[in-house]
This record gives sequence, C-alpha cells and structure tokens, in this order.
Amino acid sequence: MVADVETSKLSGVTSFLPHEISLENPCPPSKLLHPSDRIGIRFEEITSTPELTQAGANHTWLIFTDGSKIDDRVGAAFVVKDSANTQPSVIKKFKLHDDCSVFQAEMLAVQMACKHIIDHHLTDVLILSDSKSGLTELRNGSSYNRFAVNIHKLLHQARSSGYTIEFAWIKAHAGFDGNEEADLAAKAAARMRRIPDFQRVPISLVKHQNRQKCKESAKTLYMNPNTCVHTRSLLPTYNTLQEFIKIVRPDFATTQVLTNHGYHKEYLHRFHIVADDRCPCDDQTPQTWKHLLTQCPRFASARYNHEMISRLLNIDPYNLSEIIRKDDTAKSFKAYITNIVDHLKEFNQT
Ligand SMILES: [Zn+2]
Repeated sequence: MVADVETSKLSGVTSFLPHEISLENPCPPSKLLHPSDRIGIRFEEITSTPELTQAGANHTWLIFTDGSKIDDRVGAAFVVKDSANTQPSVIKKFKLHDDCSVFQAEMLAVQMACKHIIDHHLTDVLILSDSKSGLTELRNGSSYNRFAVNIHKLLHQARSSGYTIEFAWIKAHAGFDGNEEADLAAKAAARMRRIPDFQRVPISLVKHQNRQKCKESAKTLYMNPNTCVHTRSLLPTYNTLQEFIKIVRPDFATTQVLTNHGYHKEYLHRFHIVADDRCPCDDQTPQTWKHLLTQCPRFASARYNHEMISRLLNIDPYNLSEIIRKDDTAKSFKAYITNIVDHLKEFNQT
C-alpha cells in the first residue's frame, strides 16, 4: 500500500463511499515545503523520434510513466530504461481503486518513479509523462494537490542529495517504445486482481456523485404529485424545468411566474396581505398570473410584442416548454415578465 499521501474523511460528504475508501483532499498549507524550497518543475515537449533520441543522449536514465483507466479499472506504471540500452527495462506497476481518476494514476506513477530514483540512487534522470495536466500541476511549486506536494518533497530530497531529475511531456500513442511499454504496463496494472496500492478517491468524484444524488432527489421531489404543482403545470417534466432554467436563467421576475409567489394580488390575498384578489383593471377578475399574462389590458402593449414574436416563429406564447425552443421567444417572454413585475406594485398600489 502506498502510504505517504495524507488524507482525511469529511464527515457526511463521504458517507456513500465504502468504509475502506478515503478522500484525497487538498494538502493543508502547513504540509507544503518551506516557501523558499517550493520549486515547480519545468518540462520540455517531445513529439518526434529525433527529440527523444536527443533527450536520451542528454540523460543517463529515462523513466516513462503512465496511468490508465480501462474497463473501469485503474492502474499506473513506470518503465526505467538506461539511455545506452545496455540493461533490460525495469517495470513497476501499481493498482488504484476503481473509483480513482486517470489523473491520480498519472500522478501516482510520477510519484513512485521519483521514489524509485531516490531508493536506487539513480542520477541524471529524465521522467517522461504523457499527462500534460499532471506536469502542469507539478509546474506550480505551491500546489496543494497531495501528489504534487509529495512529488515536490521527493524532488527536494533528490536535489539535496545531488540527483538531477528533469521532466518532459511525451506525445501519447505516437509509437515511442518507452511510452508504449508504460501504457501497456499501466493497463496490466489496472487489470491486476489484488488489493489496490492506492485507494483514495478524488474530490471530483465526490462532487460528481453528490451532483447526481441531488439531481435524482430534485427529480423525485419535482414529480411528487403533492409538491411543485404550480411549476409542474407550466413545465411538466424535470427535464423541461432544467432546460428552461438553462435557457431563460430565471431571475427575480421569472421566479414569480414559476413559483406563483410574487406581487400579484391572488398571492397577496392568499397570504392576507391585501383585502381582496381583484385586478384593478376591472376590479372584478382575480389577479392571477394567468390573467396578467394572457388577459390584463394594463399589459396589452408588452403582451403584443411577445405574442407577435411568438406567432412569427409559430410558437405558443404561453407554453413554457415551447418558448424555450427559440432564443427570441425565450428572450421576449423574459422581457414581458420583467415588464409586468416592474410595474405591478405601482399598478396595484401595494
Ligand atoms: Zn387585470
């Protein structure tokens, strides 16, 4: 088990995770290297065989690292080659928990490669990774990513011992032998049937799963016959509601239509804020949102604009699921609602 990455559980947040799984959360600042020792890496880019050959000529050792997710399993590996090609490759494989990310696998491969360099006293090494996101994270000497912190510490240790470790990004799946070997080894590591060497899931997974759970709960609530009755009468499914929110981006005014809570007298009367629910246009008709939208003469001019745009586009001006099919009707509807809300208090003298 790879044990040098410190983690903690967040109470409640990780409750859906199996007991043996922890969360890989950001490193506290106190665990980072002293600011004067925080040196981010630099990396060159290798995209052709002559560039790789040149890199080999400039270093004694080349270590190719890779991480892979295949069939929902995750593995990492590194391949050590002496640049003179006089010794067989050394291949090390690491299995990660199935819920880990490829990014974690890429970073674990680099971390374990750095540890290998120190443990085996390798000097003058070039680490070649095809993960630009991983290398970019390592470029920031003050990164809070736990792998980055560990790698920076190992690099600091290596520098203090006089070792030279440099980095390069190598293009993936471009036929470079070392990279292909590391890729195959990482895939083989993913398929290994053993307890994972690393089993802390990324916060991104927790966020993703929480989003999914929230969405499912919201959907269930929305479709419950006893809740959201008014909103559902306008937008019959959760998907249409989501689509409406994405396109119209409800604000103070549109939320009044969606929730049936607002400045209209039917609502104010229901909550005993005004004495009656009658619209001042005729002092008879209950002032519901339906009346304001489709009948009230006070808003005839604004209504005319919205209805004209809708009819030109062959859209029912009061069907919210239809309105969002066209940008112009979505915009004119929002403008129409805003006009009503902006003038309603004055109209009602409330
Ligand atoms: Zn009216």
